[in-house]
Formats: sequence, C-alpha cells, structure tokens
Amino acid sequence: MKRRNFIRKTGLTGLGLSMIPASYSRSSIEEFIGTEMKPVCLTTWNFHQASKKAGELLDNKISALDAVEQGVRVEEKNIQNHTVGNGGAPDRDGFVTLDASIMGPDGDCGSVAFLQDIEHPVSVARKVMESTPHKMLVGKGAYNFAVNNGFKPKDLLSAESKKKWKNWLAHKNYKPIINIENHDTIGMLCLDQKGDLAGACTTSGLAYKMHGRVGDSPIIGSGLFVDNEVGGAVATGLGEEIMKNVSSFLIVELMRQGKSPQESCEIAMNRLISKNPNYKDFQVAFLALNKKGEVGSFCIHQGFTYMKYGNSVNENFTSKSLLKN
Ligand code: ASP
Repeated sequence: MKRRNFIRKTGLTGLGLSMIPASYSRSSIEEFIGTEMKPVCLTTWNFHQASKKAGELLDNKISALDAVEQGVRVEEKNIQNHTVGNGGAPDRDGFVTLDASIMGPDGDCGSVAFLQDIEHPVSVARKVMESTPHKMLVGKGAYNFAVNNGFKPKDLLSAESKKKWKNWLAHKNYKPIINIENHDTIGMLCLDQKGDLAGACTTSGLAYKMHGRVGDSPIIGSGLFVDNEVGGAVATGLGEEIMKNVSSFLIVELMRQGKSPQESCEIAMNRLISKNPNYKDFQVAFLALNKKGEVGSFCIHQGFTYMKYGNSVNENFTSKSLLKN
C-alpha cells in the first residue's frame, strides 16, 4: 500500500500525514496502516485470485465467514494447483484425499479429512459446522454426508497430476518432502467491516503421502485457529510438525497475552524448532492477523509469501524467515 493511495482511499489528507512518522519505511507504513485497516484478508502463498475474491466480497460488506469460504474455493476449483482440491497431487496409491477446516467469529468450527471425490471440502466443513452436532467428519462418512447434502462427486485426479504420480511410482522414494516453493496449502484469515474474524484452510496435503494420512489443515488449533476476541492464525508446511505443536492455537494464545502477530509467529516457530533438531530439513510457515488488522508471518526457510488485500489493494509480501539461506 503506497502512502499516497492510503491517503486517497481513506480521505485522511491532513490527519493521515501527521499521524504517520516521516521515518517509517514502506513496510512500517504498511504495519501502521494495518492497525487502521478493516476489512482485510490474508492468504498464504501467492494465491492472487483467491485473495482478490475474498477481499472484494469484504469490500461489499460480506461477512468474514462467507469471504473465507468463497475465497479458498477459488483454489479448490483451480485444476492447475496441485496442492489444493481439484487437480491436487494424489497419495502414494493414486487417490486424491482432501483436508479442510473453517472457523467463524462465534468460535464455532467444522472440518473434514481424508475426503475423496468432492471438489469443495471447505464447504463440506462449513456444512459440518452448521448442520451437524459434530465438528469433524472423515473419509467415507464425510463423503456420504457431502453427497447427501447435494455435493456432486467428481474425479479430482487431473491428467497432469496422474502423470507426475506415475513418474514418482517409477522411483517410489517415499519421503514426503515439503517443497520450499510457492503453491501449498491455502490458509485464509479475514476481518470484515463489522470487525469479525473468520478463517479457512484447505489442502490435498503432502504429495504421495500414505493412504489415510491426515495433516494439520483440518485439525482445529493446528492448521487454523480463530478467536474473534483476539485474532486468527493459519499454518502451511510439514503438517506433522505443526500438529505436534498445535501451532495456530499457540499463536492466538500469544496474541491474547498481548504479543503482536509478528512476535507470536516467531515465538511459536521457536517452540516448533526446539522440538525437532532437524528443522532445517523441512518448511513450516505461519500467518497471523489480530483484531486490529495487524499482520504477522514467519517461516523456517526463505520463500514463503502471503497475500494481503486491504483498502482495495491486493499485494504479495515476502515473509520473514528464520534461516537466511
Ligand atoms: N500442511 C499441509 C499438510 O501437511 C501441507 C502444506 O501446507 O503444504 O498436509
């Protein structure tokens, strides 16, 4: 967000300038504006279209809960994306199995795991939240629930993902390595015009994982946590490490204790790496948003980026990282 745009968009011509210290760098201005920013949408990685979709909905006074669902659905549908929904990489046996979760401002949540043949697991997760007495459905039960509620079954294994899996089968090197590049799990946090927070997280998980493996994304507190009094957090990267540390919950609890989103992400990452001396061998990244619209992000390896939509500007930012490699 350029300072000029901020002034133009907010109309704070005289007031805004005197409030922003002249010494602020571009990123500091961004943080400063963040404290004033509502609505705002944060999205893991470089998922431009999803961020734009959710951000524009927020601009139109749509709730944070609807915005996160509609936003992440963009990537669930995107067949070019091999880490989320339709076109996602299969497990080692050739099945695309999906995990997703959603959490709303009233503290309620829903999730699905090990779900097959349903393009929009986040919407099934929302249905679990809103129309069952439960919080999580998995596998065949989640599938039956989805179909009974009008979700149409669909083969999600794209020709391209199938080809890559066949190539992988030739070596069958079963060592799930999280790539340190773009395009992994989509996690999204929205703060709407009323000041309410919601979040969603959806993924096809690790490529060529064991059949039945579930990652952090559908585990409330691990891949996603939102407390409307405090803030929200999402995680991406090696789910096993995130689950061990219940990292998203920890980040929100740190914010509750008065830490900024940035400090909270960094403390949670220190906790995570302290539990595994091999932390240089995998990637984990966190993204957090507090009630004021302030942002935090932190990852192990360089390369994690996130989208921020605010004041009608949709931008990609590079996260701070632990390792400077
Ligand atoms: N966290 C996801 C999982 O472990 C993967 C990812 O974010 O890339 O399933």
